Amino acid sequence: MSNHESYLATIRQFYPEALPTSDAVDRMLTLLPRRFGLEPGQLMAADSICSDDLNLIEYPKRAYEMLGPFKMGGLNGFPFTGLTGMGAFAHHVPADGAVFVFYGPHIGVSRAGVPGDVLRPGHATPSACCGAAKAALGRLERGEISPGHITELDYQQNSIEQIFLAQGPRILAAANPILEATEVMYEAIETRINLLAALTTYPCRYVILMGAILINADHEAGSFASHRRFEVLDSATGTSQNLLAEFLAA
Ligand SMILES: [Zn+2]
Repeated sequence: MSNHESYLATIRQFYPEALPTSDAVDRMLTLLPRRFGLEPGQLMAADSICSDDLNLIEYPKRAYEMLGPFKMGGLNGFPFTGLTGMGAFAHHVPADGAVFVFYGPHIGVSRAGVPGDVLRPGHATPSACCGAAKAALGRLERGEISPGHITELDYQQNSIEQIFLAQGPRILAAANPILEATEVMYEAIETRINLLAALTTYPCRYVILMGAILINADHEAGSFASHRRFEVLDSATGTSQNLLAEFLAA
């Protein structure tokens, strides 16, 4: 087993469907032209992923064949740019194009197999990833989060704390709280993306939504993703197509 394969096997202990993000982008940019006639240059991309610099260091290169990305995410990938962000990005789409949104929280998995940790460039030992999620989880475990406490100075972090507090018993009862907190965050992000999408008018036929847990490996090994949703909404027919199974089997 190569170094790369053994790392993927480590990640799949926690995320059995995980794929390298470079492979995932290849699959998507093969599937969309074949099924919908959409070439990468017609896709206006947005992502709602954490601001963490590691997410840019490990961004899959072929994703830049699409237009964008418009950055919708703040800490741990919540779409903090809100309705205005979704609306602005939607109106940057080419006339014959489609909108593509990738969203989800992230979590490090170190080579030693510790979820919530990752080795960053220039570091000798792993550190927290997602740092915001681990900080919020620490405050939840210590009972330090007050209901409704959101400050202007730390708005995004306080918002994540409130999301965790609302699911506190579930997170604290889990065998691995950071894995569970990441699932809670995924659900919160997806719920918000669905609401923003429902309230936005898109000047194009297709809206493509891809949701995943984004997994950061130690910096030399790139990123991975465990995909949860790959859906194409067609405004011409009012229907949607679920491509997840086809995508994962490709
Ligand atoms: Zn983060």
